[in-house]
Parts: sequence; structure tokens; C-alpha cells
Amino acid sequence: MKTMTCKQLGGACDHEFRAETFEEIAQLSKKHGSEMFEKGDKPHLKAMEEMQGLMRSPENMQNWFENKRKEFAALPDNT
Ligand SMILES: [Zn+2]
Repeated sequence: MKTMTCKQLGGACDHEFRAETFEEIAQLSKKHGSEMFEKGDKPHLKAMEEMQGLMRSPENMQNWFENKRKEFAALPDNT
């Protein structure tokens, strides 16, 4: 299992996600993001806005995911 924080995944807090694959951790981060969105958490709303700005360009989005995927792959496995 590898660990990444909400902040590392484009979020706003130090909440940690643990997963085996990048796809899995991206899902966890997304779920957490929508929970925070429902709570109306300001820092997360702001972070999401920034992400949405980035996602407007498919190319930027692709780059972002590739970078995060590499970051995830480089993490030590801390089972
Ligand atoms: Zn968070």
C-alpha cells in the first residue's frame, strides 16, 4: 500500500489515502473531495475550482495525471 495526502492530490488538507494503485487512490481522493464539497469546506472548494480550471484543457489534465502517477509510482511501499 502507498500513501498520498489530499494536498498531494490537488486537495486542501493532510488527510491520507492509502491504496495499491494510482487509479484507486485517485478514486479515494475524488470521494473525499465530494464529501468535503457537500460540507461546503472552503479550502476544498477553492482547490476544486483550481482543479476544474486545469481540467478545462484535456492536455493539462493528462499531464497532471501523468505527473501524479509518476509521483505515486516513486513512493515507497509502506504496507
Ligand atoms: Zn482533503
